[in-house]
Amino acid sequence: MNQTETGTALVKKPLSPDWDPWDPWYTRMRKGRHELTGVEFTVTQLCNLRCEHCAVGEMLVKEEGVALPVETLIRRLEEVDTLQTLSITGGEPVLSPRVVEETIRPLLRYARERGIYTQINSNLTLPLSRYEDWVEDVDVLHISYNYRDAADFHRIAFEKYGREVPQKAGEKLFHRMVDNAKALSKAGVFVSAETLLSPFTSPHIVQMHRDVAEMGCRRHEVHPLYPSDFARGMELISLDTFRETIHQLVDHRDEGVWILFGTLPFYPCSDNPADRELWLRLHKEKNITVRNDPDGRNRLNVNTFTGDVIVTDFGDVPPLGNIQTDRLDTIFNRWLDHAEARRHHCFCPEARCTGPNILVADAYYPSTDFQQKKAQLSLETI
Ligand code: SF4
Repeated sequence: MNQTETGTALVKKPLSPDWDPWDPWYTRMRKGRHELTGVEFTVTQLCNLRCEHCAVGEMLVKEEGVALPVETLIRRLEEVDTLQTLSITGGEPVLSPRVVEETIRPLLRYARERGIYTQINSNLTLPLSRYEDWVEDVDVLHISYNYRDAADFHRIAFEKYGREVPQKAGEKLFHRMVDNAKALSKAGVFVSAETLLSPFTSPHIVQMHRDVAEMGCRRHEVHPLYPSDFARGMELISLDTFRETIHQLVDHRDEGVWILFGTLPFYPCSDNPADRELWLRLHKEKNITVRNDPDGRNRLNVNTFTGDVIVTDFGDVPPLGNIQTDRLDTIFNRWLDHAEARRHHCFCPEARCTGPNILVADAYYPSTDFQQKKAQLSLETI
């Protein structure tokens, strides 16, 4: 039971390292199959930044039309009896007041009334007042943190802008993002900062983690760089560097901050003992979790302009259906039969693993057939 009813409001079980409803693990274990428990809406493709690591960068636009009526989105959510999480992403979802008013606020209200967990991904660089009147309805405010300072932010955030942006303008946005994160964390908002491990961030991960803690963020998410869109040409760190970086971070972390490793490129079936040791360590350490990949295992992405449904907002699998004509659970079941899903949906319960993320597997293990692999460790004794 993840919710209790008090009066008319549903009280949700708090998020914690022991309860992360975005992790497909729980349903896969309980039901014996993957099930659609999460929907992510791409509510805009406008953004005030053009970060070099942006995995949806090539889809960003300067102007956009009118989204589908929110009633259409909610009608499709109503059909998903198993829904537990709702995620909102962009572009920068908060950039257009119209998107906030007509799409975001009604979706958050709907989710609150239904006891659904919510996450919104924002760069947090807009004035604080743009967040304050709806953020209390959000369970996770997810931000990016891939910088050491304002100069890094200026270089990274405007890398693909197409014209020179004054240093001062970049610095102003960086300081506003940091101040907003501090103010919202202080007000009780669960701010989760994500760092993508790249050749640039990896040597500075401990300092970045300290900055995340300093901002009051409750969680630090650490992921690989996704070789998609703007980031397609960026260099990936080697698996050895990745492993060393994680050990270094864990050795020097702030234990009060929950660290979530997502789409990790290490698996319990690895023939390399160092990978298996890392997996065991991460499952033993307090306040650290390894999240199995939600995309396509319990979540689909919906574009609110076209209605197209895809398995993830970045990646090369073409649309699987459209909410103007199809139910979401029908589309999800169609996806489970897709060759890409069959290739990556392996499962080793003793090691708490539901298989690799498609992009990460293609980048780091292009010739591995995970269906032929099997965990070489068990978490049952730890
Ligand atoms: S579920 Fe897949 S990736 Fe994970 S340990 Fe088993 S075979 Fe390897």
